[in-house]
Amino acid sequence: MTFSERELREGVALVTCPECDGEGRLEYEIAVPDFGAYRGGELQGKIMDCEMCEGYGEVEVEITEEELQIIVQLENSGSIH
Ligand SMILES: [Zn+2]
Repeated sequence: MTFSERELREGVALVTCPECDGEGRLEYEIAVPDFGAYRGGELQGKIMDCEMCEGYGEVEVEITEEELQIIVQLENSGSIH
C-alpha cells in the first residue's frame, strides 16, 4: 500500500473499502421471519448500503507510526521508486 504525501501528513488515508470492494453496496443476508415455517424463517440476500463505508466505497484508516517508519525505511533503502 502506498500513501500520498497529504495522507502521510494527516496520518489518515482513504482506502478502498475491504467489505464491499469499493462498490458501496453489498449483499447482506437478512433473516426473514416466516411464521408458517417449522423453524424460524429464512435468510434472504438483500442488496444494501455497505455498513463499513456507508455507501462511499472508501474508508478512512489511520496510518500508524509503525507503518510510517516502515515506509521511511523502505524509501531510505531505495525499494520504492
Ligand atoms: Zn464498503
